[in-house]
Amino acid sequence: MSNAASHEKNEIIRLKAADDLRKTMDDYFGRLRDAAETGRKKIAWCTSVGPTELLYSMGFEVYFPENHGAMLGAGKNADKYIPSAIAIGYSPEICSYLTSDIGAFLQNETPLQKMGFKSIPKPDILVYNTNQCREVSDWFSFYARHFNVPVLGIHTPLGIDELTPGIIKNVSDQIEGLIPELEKAAGRKFDPDRLKEAVALSHEGCILWRTVLEKAMHKPSPINFFDSVIHMGPIVVMRGTQYAVDYYKILLAELEERIQNNIGAIPLEKHRIYWDGMPLWYKLSSLAKVFSRLDTCIVASTYCNSWVFDDLDAGNPFESSALAYSKLFIVRSDNAKEKILEKLLKDFSIDGLIYHESKTCHRNSNNLYGLQNRLFETTGIPYLEINGDLNDPRCFSEEQSIIAIETFIDQLAGHQK
Ligand code: SF4
Repeated sequence: MSNAASHEKNEIIRLKAADDLRKTMDDYFGRLRDAAETGRKKIAWCTSVGPTELLYSMGFEVYFPENHGAMLGAGKNADKYIPSAIAIGYSPEICSYLTSDIGAFLQNETPLQKMGFKSIPKPDILVYNTNQCREVSDWFSFYARHFNVPVLGIHTPLGIDELTPGIIKNVSDQIEGLIPELEKAAGRKFDPDRLKEAVALSHEGCILWRTVLEKAMHKPSPINFFDSVIHMGPIVVMRGTQYAVDYYKILLAELEERIQNNIGAIPLEKHRIYWDGMPLWYKLSSLAKVFSRLDTCIVASTYCNSWVFDDLDAGNPFESSALAYSKLFIVRSDNAKEKILEKLLKDFSIDGLIYHESKTCHRNSNNLYGLQNRLFETTGIPYLEINGDLNDPRCFSEEQSIIAIETFIDQLAGHQK
């Protein structure tokens, strides 16, 4: 029986690897909890596209506030917490990961309590990279003040058009420059061989993750955006470890099996969409059902592609890290982004784009300076813009957005004919 015939419309076809994912993530949080409770290992906080390889190589357990922010969003609790951050002077216009995370902290609540944590794990040091946005510096500085621990930053220039040797050298020197403070917090010396090992593992994990995402080039796609934003957990929080590598081998094998058996991520794929911008964490499952009902698969996204650091090279760990983390989509100029998108639209056989203009994350909203029109002129691929937010549900009008999506897909069908 064909995949389309054996499943109901509206259905989400669950990946079996979800069980392994849960175990991999539970084990990660178990290691963090153990470090927080026993002090056997030091804890570093890191931004999601920060120098995790260096931190893991120095023996830290690594905690990612953005991952925590996404958990708060997915738990549909962000609007409960954001007012507490606003009350101490953080604007409702800035990153709702930041405001919901700080608000939850002020209310002494965290989804980690369900996993046995007393609170979020206390940092020994915090390390950010501004390659994604400046908010991370303000966010981490709040906790550095609160816990009275050091905060270190890599300041990457934004809007990079061409990655010049000067930029790479500057960022590489900044990464290397973190070492003395990290040694003090870790209570151990930096070991270049351990860094090489972590960079090699990170590279391997990123190649596997890239291969997972590229499986969506197949028609029908064996994976969609709503799977990817969940299954990207290990590449975000365990990049540079064997755990991430092991998990993506499992996921990749399942996707290959799906392709062999012509199983798509949604029952009947007719339209293929590129999603630009952040996920709406509080609406993942309802939007997944909407797209499935419309026979539409979101096969590629700016967001999930952000964790493909395939330029990492164990033979040259600092410079290759600088290159990989400065080549990231979010750091680039609109010119560079347009070229990247043109290629992706072709490679993934995209029928239409949806730009999610996120109220509190301008850095991850790419329809603010005319890119959407210019890309349409060069590719002729239609697009839709929707307004919402990554975490704050008050910025999203569900009914209005679903009507817009339905109309857009209807028009796409006509366009495709
Ligand atoms: S990139 Fe956007 S969502 Fe991420 S931390 Fe920065 S402002 Fe927040």
